[in-house]
Amino acid sequence: MSNNYSIETKCIQSGWQPQNGEPRVLPIYQSTTYKYETSDEMGKLFDLEKEGYFYTRLQNPTNDMVAAKICELEGGVAAMLTSSGQAANYYAVFNICEVGDHVVLSSTVYGGTFNLLTVTMKKMGIECTIVDPDADEETINKAFQENTKCVVAESIANPALVVLDFEKFVKVAHAHGVPLIVDNTFATPINCRPFEYGVDIVTHSTTKYMDGHAMSVGGAIVDSGNFDWARYGSKFHGLTTPDESYHGVTYTEKFGNKAYITKATVQLMRDLGSIPSPMNSFLLNIGLETLHLRVPRHCENALKVAEWLENNDKVAWVNYPGLKSNKYYERAKKYMPNGTCGVISFGLKGGRDVSVAFMDNLKLAAIVTHVADARTCVLHPASHTHRQMNDEQLIEAGVQPDLIRFSVGIENADDIIADIEQALTHI
Ligand code: PLP
Repeated sequence: MSNNYSIETKCIQSGWQPQNGEPRVLPIYQSTTYKYETSDEMGKLFDLEKEGYFYTRLQNPTNDMVAAKICELEGGVAAMLTSSGQAANYYAVFNICEVGDHVVLSSTVYGGTFNLLTVTMKKMGIECTIVDPDADEETINKAFQENTKCVVAESIANPALVVLDFEKFVKVAHAHGVPLIVDNTFATPINCRPFEYGVDIVTHSTTKYMDGHAMSVGGAIVDSGNFDWARYGSKFHGLTTPDESYHGVTYTEKFGNKAYITKATVQLMRDLGSIPSPMNSFLLNIGLETLHLRVPRHCENALKVAEWLENNDKVAWVNYPGLKSNKYYERAKKYMPNGTCGVISFGLKGGRDVSVAFMDNLKLAAIVTHVADARTCVLHPASHTHRQMNDEQLIEAGVQPDLIRFSVGIENADDIIADIEQALTHI
């Protein structure tokens, strides 16, 4: 589709482009496999000599159409869907890292990403150095090693709500000849397009705002196409030297700026298999069609709720980058001028137990392990998503023990505030 269309039009129209007489709505290709006239034709697909579908574990047309839409929303050159945001972040890193390699990781990333890298990928021999995203350039530079292969951060950290200093992170990553991978789940391409600031790879948990209705778990990886893998010789040898499992194909030579996503699809998806179901991708596509309407409403409601909380006596602190008093207000204005996200965090006077008691008294806002849903929801990270972390790690991740993560939905803001008000009367 034309790249000149605005993001609103892309939300609706990108991806599936029906030809004459074809269904107007993206079809669900609920098929594991694809038929060919000759054995030779199918053989060519296995050698990557010909493009085409042969088995849904690698690629499926419904999934690919939705990936194409997300690719256009982010302004990338290639994208793929995964069965979860976890799989997206795993593949994004594992596509260029192997045993003996090293990653520089922002300390405030989502707890699941933190575990993935520091626990599970560590077992695969991939080490991490954790950096405070607000540390100065010199300090972050010291985290790099000879074997560093990428930097991983979030545009808006979940749940610390730290807004990434893109300029600083792009500069340090590129100075060390490695790509910057940014998880853009919270900001979404409606509010922030990291490629415009020099980021190389973007990931998403599409489970959040993109789906928007808490219907399906999913993930996406998008490549800007800008990182020059070949420039660094054997550093990214998985991309720049022959892959014997495809009869010696060299991804950078054969697929140019689509090398990274092609490798992740034909090698990682082939071998690890975390493809979304076509049905889930169909649902994700419906979510994407209203992303441009929902995200501004989430932000508008979140700002109203955050301002109300800031003026309430029982509230100890409020963290929302859209608040003028917030540490990240100016940075958010620079990188995401139309808004940040619908998630706010706050603590109540009296600490952790009071915060938990308040949550138990909410009626409209539900306690769920989720954020970025059309319905307002709430969670206590220290008891839930981050419960595996000790106090020191919690603080490092920007998570106070009393922190309430409040995901403001797209209901009427006054009703959400009334629910908070009544719950506060019980503590
Ligand atoms: N990245 C971020 C920023 C998240 O918030 C989450 C989940 O909350 C994930 C990744 C993991 O995504 P999923 O739950 O879809 O596997």
